This record gives sequence, structure tokens and C-alpha cells, in this order.
Amino acid sequence: MAQSSVLDPPTITAEQMKASMTRLQTELVAKYRDAQKPRISTGLHQVVEFWRPEDGDIAVFEDFVRANFAGDQASLDTLFDRFQRLLEQLDGHMHEIAREFRNQQDLDLGPVRPYDEVFGGYDPAAHVLDDFFQNKLAFTILLNFPVTTLEERINEGPKWTRRQWAETRLAQRFAKRIPADVTLAIARAAAESDNYIAGYNIWMHHLVDDKGQRLFPPKMRLLSHWNLRDEIKADYADQQNGLAKQRTIQQVMERIITQSIPQVVVDNPHVDWNPWTNEVKRATANDAPSPAPANLKVTNSPEPSTRYAMLLETYRAARLADPYSPTAPSLIERRFNEDREIPEELLQDMLERVVSSPLVPQVASLIQSRLGRPLEPFDIWYSGFRPGSKYSETQLDEIVAKKYPNAEAYRGDIPSLLKKLGFPPDRAQYIAEHIIVDPARGSGHAMGAEMRSEKAHLRTRIEKAGMNYKGYNVAVHEMGHNVEQTLSLNDVDYTLLQGVPNTAFTEALAFVFQGQDMALLGLAQPDAQSEALKTLNDFWGTYEIAGVALVDMSVWHWMYDHPEAAPEELRAATLEIAKDKWNRFFAPVFGKKDVVLLAVYSHMIDSFLYLPDYPIGHLIAFQIEEQVKKTGSIGPEFERMAKMGRVTPDLWMEHATGKPVGADALLAATEAALKQVGSKP
Ligand SMILES: [Zn+2]
Repeated sequence: MAQSSVLDPPTITAEQMKASMTRLQTELVAKYRDAQKPRISTGLHQVVEFWRPEDGDIAVFEDFVRANFAGDQASLDTLFDRFQRLLEQLDGHMHEIAREFRNQQDLDLGPVRPYDEVFGGYDPAAHVLDDFFQNKLAFTILLNFPVTTLEERINEGPKWTRRQWAETRLAQRFAKRIPADVTLAIARAAAESDNYIAGYNIWMHHLVDDKGQRLFPPKMRLLSHWNLRDEIKADYADQQNGLAKQRTIQQVMERIITQSIPQVVVDNPHVDWNPWTNEVKRATANDAPSPAPANLKVTNSPEPSTRYAMLLETYRAARLADPYSPTAPSLIERRFNEDREIPEELLQDMLERVVSSPLVPQVASLIQSRLGRPLEPFDIWYSGFRPGSKYSETQLDEIVAKKYPNAEAYRGDIPSLLKKLGFPPDRAQYIAEHIIVDPARGSGHAMGAEMRSEKAHLRTRIEKAGMNYKGYNVAVHEMGHNVEQTLSLNDVDYTLLQGVPNTAFTEALAFVFQGQDMALLGLAQPDAQSEALKTLNDFWGTYEIAGVALVDMSVWHWMYDHPEAAPEELRAATLEIAKDKWNRFFAPVFGKKDVVLLAVYSHMIDSFLYLPDYPIGHLIAFQIEEQVKKTGSIGPEFERMAKMGRVTPDLWMEHATGKPVGADALLAATEAALKQVGSKP
């Protein structure tokens, strides 16, 4: 794969380019004086890094540089202001088009026609970056503003002015130039692995034990891993068969991970499978939607490591972008240094602090006593900390439906809801004016605006009888997103800094709102005991997902260290990695070694190192909640935090809470929760 900065002869040779740079450097320094020397040198190098033969010959290059270098503060200000304003317009209108194109799919507006799906899938902004390199607007930025590394943003960022931060974000937009065929190859690998995962169902009624008994009801078809995991969680309520079901599901999961699962049982209701002996037979119970295919071959030959072949394909596709991303030349670096902006080593330390915390065995023994039996590996998904409520779901549904018969009723109530959350009346009014409420087709979501003349959209589910409690609970969460989106766009000092550091932050802010849903209805908030149980539930969930994230991270490193690996080798390596994390952080409390369960997440196969986002989200949510509790009033605190904009996570969190991102808040809350729960028999 050729590098973008390699200039093919005969258009321009590397020597010509070098000579030209020296010439321009001398010329520009003479014109703008020594003070501009570092800027000139950085700018020239950045342009050359991305310049390709098709961008023009030496004369074109030199003319471009002479015409576009802003050598004094006034021209630089003009350039900055123009780009900030016009990029806001571009992003805002592109987003507006995309939102309109998706309306039929997203909103409760009647049937979705095939062309609606095409509109919904169309991204009008897909070629903007390519266009900006072609028309050289990208080079104008690269010539005038430095592209930074995460290290610089972390070490020097705290001393930067807000304008420098805005310039940094502006330059970052053009810090890579990935060719269209590479982008396409990545999209293709993503789609292929998505398809593989989306079809990976287990027909539960066809799982049989040694006596031929079926534990699960007919027609139950569970998608790996989400539905299988959620079934384990639900089975805690089944006094009779729960434990047997959970053990069976664990066995199925392990067969998927080790790929000893018979190929023929995947998404197939025409065979019965004993996951313990691995025996497969033609189905003797029929719950299939269609008859068995005539050529059905019933064998137990295993799935041939397809799971790992899929993962390898995503790695190989992701790697194609490496040469075009000079400041983050691997997917691992792009994920941590660009998307999350938390260095990998730092995050690893945080996660290991959670999984090796002395609180883990304490919570584990509490779970054990609640279950009345020793822990088994699937208990990483223990769900029994759920607190009870004073009100039944039916009571709550009635209260909510009466209050919010339609979307307009909810919209009309937003100023009053915000006042209850502590926003001053004028601010509540101002924010409410920036939010539109639409009836959603699905469960609801929040869609922020990308320019100040647009509004944020709150999509909420309204049933025929009015809003129900579940829909209301989601609406309050989404409203939290909308308030964050509104403040971090309209009240941030530079629109180039619009938003929050990463998605975990907007989720955390939305959870602060969601946690107030009962108070907003004028009902009693959960008591201290319920709050403590919720904290223990979150802690146990963070422990589990931190383990999963550590496996994901190690697997990606292994792939980068073994670029030529075969699927079979990746399979073996993944099993070793999963066992190693288990043995270090889970075996001590579960009393069983060499368990591979941490490798079951489907995201690991199709989501390009996404899993670490989940534990970070938990840590950040606890930090923000703790801060809000400390000050006692959500409104002003929320506003102060949201106006910080998209700086690094640590800088944002320092400003918000006085501390960088870390596990302290979660661990402190868990310790307090253990005391609270332990004090009541
Ligand atoms: Zn959310």
C-alpha cells in the first residue's frame, strides 16, 4: 500500500518537493519575519504530508502556499472566523438534510416505503472530506493550524486559550486523508461482520439435556450474545429451572467462543442439540416457521472458526487506513487517541483498578449470600440487586398517560420540568425554546442540532392511550441529551468546540436527568436502600464489562502483533487472552479457573474495539453524579459543565469536578453502598 505522501514521478519527485519547501520557507520568513518561522515550517510539512500528485505539480503547490499562508494575526483571525462560520453552516445543513431524510423511518408517520429506507441510509456528508482536499480548503487549514497529537493535547492543552482549543479541533478535522477505496473496504468488512452477528441465533427449544428434556419454550430464538445474556439475567427469577437454564446458556456461549459449536445448529430450528455432549439430531419438536430444507445434513462438525475469520477481516480492513492517518497510525491509536482521547495505558490502569478492587470479593460474597449458593461463572451477569418500587408499573402508567396524552403536552411541560431540576426560569424558557418534541417510531432518542439556527429534537414514544411510564423514563433521559446538546452548541464560546469530549459524557449527563424521573412526577424518589442497590448493580456491571473490555484491547494488540495470523491462530490466542484475564481478575472470587466467557461479546467481532466505551461510561457517570449531589442543584451545575465543550476528557472533568477521569467516584460510591446494604439485614 503506497503512502499518501509518496509522490510518484514524473509529476513531482521527493527532491523537487524538498527543494520547493526550502525555497518557500526562505521566501515566507523574509516576508513575515522570524516570529512566523515555526508556523511556516509546520504548515509546509503538513501540506506536503497529504499532497498527492493529482493535487498538482510544483507550480500549483507553490502558488497555493503563497496565496494561502496567513502570515499576520489579522489574516489568521479572518481565516479562522470564516472557517468556523462556514463549517457550522455546512455541518448544520448536512445534518438537517440527514434528519429530514430519516424522518419517515424515525418518526411515527405510517408505513416505511423502500425508497424511505434509501433516503434514510443516504449520508449527504459522506464525500465532504474528499471534496475539501480536492478543492484544497483542507490544505488551507493544514498550512495554517498545527495538527496535534493526543500527548500534546493532554500535556499542553491545559495551558491553551479557548481559541487555541478551537484551532486544534479545526485542524484535527483534516488530520487524515483516507482514500475512498479504503473507506469502502472498511465499510464492507463492517457490514459483513454485522451480517454474521445479526444472523447468529440460537433456537432455545432445541437445546436438550441427556434425558432429552427441553428447558426453554418453543419459538424462543435468542441472538448471541445480547439475548443469551439477558436470558441469564431473567432466569434469576425462575425458582424452578433458572439455574439449569443459566448453566445451559453458559455452555452454549462457551461453545460459540471456542467454536466447538456444530455449524448446523446456528439459527436452525430443524435440529436438536445437546450442548454438553455436542450431539446433534434431527429435531423431534417442531416450532419452525418453515419446513426443513430437503438437503439438511445433520452432523456435528464444528463452525470452522468463522467468528475469528470475521474479526480478522475487520482488522485487515481497519489496517488499510493506517498509512493515511499519520498522527494515529493504527486503529488502536485512533480509538484511544482520537475517539476517546484517553491514553490506552491510562484506561487500562483504571479498568484494572476496578477489576482488582478489594470491593469485588465483598460484593461477590453479598451476591453469594443473596443467591444462597456458591457463585458460578455466569453470575458475572447477576441481576438481583434491582430495587423494588413503591408504585406499580400500572399506577405509574396511569399517572404519566394523564399528564402526557401527546407529544405536545410533554413539550409544553419542559420549562416547568427544567425549573424543577433547578434551572432559573429564564434559562428554563431559553432551553425549552430550543427543543422540538416528535412522536418516535422506536423507543425514543435525542437528536441534537449542528448549527445554532436549528433546534434539538426529542423523539419520544407515545402510545394510543398516551405516554406510558417506560416512554416517560426514556423521554427524561433524552431530554437530558437535548439540554446538553443545546447548551454545548448555543452557549459554548466557539462552535468548533461544540459538544462533549465523547459519547460517555453525554450519556452520563442524560443519566443525571433520568435519575430524577420520579421527583419530576411529584412522587417520592427511591430511598437510600434502593439507591445503594442500584450502585451495587452498576458496580457489578462495571466489573464485568471492564473484564470484557480488557479482553477486547488485548485481542486487538495480538492482531497488530500477528498481521499474518490465520483465523485458527486468532481463535487460540483469544481463548488464551480470555482465560488469562479471567484467571487474574475473576477466578479469585468465582473459585474456578480457565473460563472463556469474557470473550462472548458480539461487539468484539464487528465493532472495531468499541467495548472499552462501556466501562468508561460507568466511571464518568459516577463522577458527574457525585459532583451534582455535592452541589445539590442540577440546573446550574449541568449548565456550567455542558458549556465547556469538546476538550479532552480529563480537562473537561477537571473543570467539572476538580479531578481527572478515574475510578475513584465509582469505588467510593460502592463502598458507601456496601455499608448501607450491609446495615440492613
Ligand atoms: Zn442516551
